[in-house]
Amino acid sequence: MKAKVAINGYGTIGKRVADAVAAQDDMEVVGVVKTRPSFEASIAKEKGFPLYAAAKENLEDFKKSKIEVSGTLEELLDEADIVIDATPGDTGEEYKKLYQKHDVKAIWQGGEDHELTEFSFNSEANYDDALGRNLARVVSCNTTGLVRVLYALDTAYGVRKARVTLMRRAADPNDIKTGPINALVPDPIKLPSHHGPDVNSILPDIDITTMAVKTSTTLMHLHALNIELKKNCAEDEIIKLFGTRPRIRLVSSRDRIRSTAEAMELAKDMGRPRGDMWENVVWKDSISINKGELYFFQAIHQESDVVPENVDAIRAMLELETQGNKSIKKTNYALGMTS
Ligand code: NAD
Repeated sequence: MKAKVAINGYGTIGKRVADAVAAQDDMEVVGVVKTRPSFEASIAKEKGFPLYAAAKENLEDFKKSKIEVSGTLEELLDEADIVIDATPGDTGEEYKKLYQKHDVKAIWQGGEDHELTEFSFNSEANYDDALGRNLARVVSCNTTGLVRVLYALDTAYGVRKARVTLMRRAADPNDIKTGPINALVPDPIKLPSHHGPDVNSILPDIDITTMAVKTSTTLMHLHALNIELKKNCAEDEIIKLFGTRPRIRLVSSRDRIRSTAEAMELAKDMGRPRGDMWENVVWKDSISINKGELYFFQAIHQESDVVPENVDAIRAMLELETQGNKSIKKTNYALGMTS
């Protein structure tokens, strides 16, 4: 029997996780939840996902729009083994009570604080700790991207300290509320940005400080990393190490990938759904050891890098697979993340 997954919040992250879950052979989407009728609600139905209204008050709107719903979130929760909460941040406490009332496991996204679930997840770094849990949070897109590289480096060489500057996309491409803008905004203006402490919610022993700047772009985030390792190593060894990781894609400016725009074009040309890039895009020709310290650039596709982590979190919490590396392989294979 397939595990039954409900998706509450069918926006940027929710709709991608729904497709990723539907692509797996050990889980299925039993319903997706929208607050109001929209083109996304119609498409969810076309894809065969049962559609539910967030609350009874929303039913009338759906009735008027002639988009039929199968019921409300509360009814859906009674059918599900686990719910992916991809609502905008800050509804966590309220929905936590509801999920617990219906005795359903729940996974939140990076917009909620670590304290909501007391457990933050990354597939490679702490899959084992997620086994059988009732509540978890998949950390944000930036933190997922940082944990992937820091976990790999820490395991191989030990990280003495990491100093990272994040250039953050200001809005998602479909977001008309936040833009257009014409400025670079230090955010927050004073150290630290939340990403460093957030990395520590998964890798508590890493000395990391992050600064972040919002930039006038919607495509991807760009990270500039400076890392002091405990053991000496060569640039080639770092390239080799990243080449072995399942969710790091090495690219080169020699192949004319010199920007986030070209990294996104690569994803589109690879035929990725919605042009998504689930992996960290690390420029191998940016990897430098300078005065004993490691430097490199990576780009993070904010709309999609957390998607495979949500699938693995489901598998771990429902104990569909007890080994993290097997789950990662299975997820990647089902998504077509093989080249
Ligand atoms: P979004 O605004 O694109 O989608 C949120 C969806 O939830 C929308 O469909 C909205 O209609 C629905 N919704 C709003 N209130 C609701 C409610 N009370 N009950 C049910 N549904 C409700 O948001 P998003 O970008 O997908 O973000 C979702 C979560 O994922 C947030 O925690 C965010 O921080 C996190 N996240 C976002 C990104 C990103 O770049 N977009 C990346 C990683 C993590």
